[in-house]
Amino acid sequence: MDGMMRLLVDGMLGSMARKLRIFGFDTLYYNGLDDSLLLDECMKDGRVLITGDEELFNHASRLGVESILVKGNGIDDMVHLLRRLGVGSIAFDIRNSRCPLCNSRLEHASKDTMRGLPEGILERYERFYRCHGCARVYWEGSHIKRILEFERGVNRRLAER
Ligand SMILES: [Zn+2]
Repeated sequence: MDGMMRLLVDGMLGSMARKLRIFGFDTLYYNGLDDSLLLDECMKDGRVLITGDEELFNHASRLGVESILVKGNGIDDMVHLLRRLGVGSIAFDIRNSRCPLCNSRLEHASKDTMRGLPEGILERYERFYRCHGCARVYWEGSHIKRILEFERGVNRRLAER
């Protein structure tokens, strides 16, 4: 995966933005921000704009901002997006993940500092991660199964053609 790829996701694509972060893409997300501010942000940072808004997509293209039109948050939309980005496959690795809430990197956090978590979680898991930005704590719990299932589905479709 290209670690330098920077994305900006707009509007109703919040679930897409969270998935991109989980798979390690540097992804800003705004809902309701003025179009001109979105475009400024893309130009300033060299970000690819991902939007479901055709008008904004056309506007971006006229300004020379790389933009990809995505219609929804489903697996086919993700496959379409990744193809357009030239990404051949995705691979979940929590050490490369970004916080789905704030896009900051996660850092390994020792179990001793996890006292606020439920006992069951502390008994079951050994490795914990803390978001560098918002301090939220993550571990590879049951939701990982869904993430890996999504990854397999996406990679299978990406390989089809
Ligand atoms: Zn965070």
